[in-house]
Amino acid sequence: MNREENLKQAKQKGTPYDIILIGGGATGMGAALDAASRGHSVLLLEGVDFGKGTSSRSTKLVHGGVRYLQKGDIPLVMDALKERGIMRQNAPHLVSDLAFVVPNYTWWEAPFYGIGMKVYDALAGKYGFGKSELLSSEETVNRIPTIATEGLRGGVQYYDGQFDDARMLVNMAQTASEQGAHLLNYFEVKGLLKSDEGFVNGVRALDKESGEEHEFKAKIVINCTGPFSDSVRRMDNADAKSMIAPSTGVHIVLPAEFLPRGTAIMVPRTTDGRVLFAIPWHHCVVVGTTDTPVDEVSLEPRATAEEVEFILENARQYLEKPPERKDVLSVFSGIRPLVKAGGEDNTAQLSRDHTITVSKSGLITIAGGKWTTYRHMAEDVIDRAELLGELNPADCVTKRLNIHGYHEHPEKFGDLAHYGSDALAIQQLLQEEGQGELVHPRLKLRVGEVRWMARREMARTPDDVLSRRSRSLLFDAKAAREAAEKVCEILREELRKDQDWVEQQLQDFDEMSLGYLVEELVTA
Ligand SMILES: Cc1cc2nc3c(=O)[nH]c(=O)nc-3n(C[C@H](O)[C@H](O)[C@H](O)COP(=O)(O)OP(=O)(O)OC[C@H]3O[C@@H](n4cnc5c(N)ncnc54)[C@H](O)[C@@H]3O)c2cc1C
Repeated sequence: MNREENLKQAKQKGTPYDIILIGGGATGMGAALDAASRGHSVLLLEGVDFGKGTSSRSTKLVHGGVRYLQKGDIPLVMDALKERGIMRQNAPHLVSDLAFVVPNYTWWEAPFYGIGMKVYDALAGKYGFGKSELLSSEETVNRIPTIATEGLRGGVQYYDGQFDDARMLVNMAQTASEQGAHLLNYFEVKGLLKSDEGFVNGVRALDKESGEEHEFKAKIVINCTGPFSDSVRRMDNADAKSMIAPSTGVHIVLPAEFLPRGTAIMVPRTTDGRVLFAIPWHHCVVVGTTDTPVDEVSLEPRATAEEVEFILENARQYLEKPPERKDVLSVFSGIRPLVKAGGEDNTAQLSRDHTITVSKSGLITIAGGKWTTYRHMAEDVIDRAELLGELNPADCVTKRLNIHGYHEHPEKFGDLAHYGSDALAIQQLLQEEGQGELVHPRLKLRVGEVRWMARREMARTPDDVLSRRSRSLLFDAKAAREAAEKVCEILREELRKDQDWVEQQLQDFDEMSLGYLVEELVTA
């Protein structure tokens, strides 16, 4: 994975690509991986960084969706539970089982949720993660010592999966690259190219690092821009009606002491009728989420003080020591790319919870779905692309395709476990002089890791390092802001940049990262 090399190859490509993908989130990267591993030639263009959009801002669950079970959407839950199993099988270094407890405070909750979770277990079939069980109040407190005990009658324990979304994306990018895909970050698609007959046959894109524009040709172009899908559809047809109904979801991050035993809490019904999770993740606790419809989509949606207060208020009802605003280490917000019912394209097809549309000019758009089902979404959209672009049909192979870093016992690498099989090489790098030094006393990120991210994971900016390749901005927003200068200096050396670049990057990171500080929340 090397940006210069990928750009050189894309510029030198004499014939059109089979497929160009716009957008480097779970949907686009999943599709790149699927298409490249079938043998198609692939170019993926991401306007900022892989995972800059929604795909690094999820609740970090690999799940069937208990919420969909409540709504009775059985096929959707079954599909997601199967994909959950495939994801763990192919990326065991990043996807793990997690025990959840639904705490019960009224008499009907144990039988109600107990039966519901048995159905969840049964739907998973051979992809099951562990059997659900009813817990007494003592057992519930034993698993979650911080749970509010007044009126506690017991709990229902069940299992689901959890992962590190942005690291998964980086490892998927490395896998796609190994399969021959050309991937470019900081490459924004500005327009679509069309043949004399009016069919989309390429893109015009801006290299945000050099300021140069390039044209790339392809037999098929797929729009995988999630919440931004409508803006790309309007490059094709300026009058296209909106198909995305965006809504933001906010999470807060708390210190590990709020869930010390590694068991998560699932609240099936918050004061606004949603599901709320409190999840031990790395060495902290992620709590969320909210659901607020918005008119505008942005790459950095800002959480409001009201949304954070809502999460804290609901969390307080279940925790013995109530979390306060001062406990919040970081706040992050993402936009759901929800697809509106209906739509104007006559080839629109509703496929489970994701939608694939084909415009009259042949632009394919795939939107909706969830992280857990990215592989199945990719299979569907590449099947469609093969048909439409008259590509050589090939079987999808991603059901059994290890993701880069695959390792069955990553825990043996200690705090480098999330790098999976790359941990050995990183360990060696850290032994070199000065490379083992922390970039900040409160962050578990070392100088050598930043170098690795620049050399092997296509990190280009302090945001790429601090937000996604390490999750420092989520673990401790203040510490990440303080570490930016040091990280920038390492990147300057690695990427051979000058002092002006450093100053610009620091200014950009400073502005962007303000949105993660609980002290800087905006009001609605
Ligand atoms: C709050 C929240 C919690 C969630 N939790 C979970 C969960 O726990 N588990 C789960 O399975 N799912 C979860 N989801 C759903 C999941 O995160 C999303 O479905 C998924 O990440 C969407 O991926 P995407 O690739 O479609 O969109 P994105 O990740 O937003 O990717 C789109 C990309 O397109 C790029 N782009 C836009 N315009 C252009 C252009 N012109 N040129 C080039 N690139 C462009 C953007 O920069 C962006 O990186 C959650 C979603 C939200 C909002």
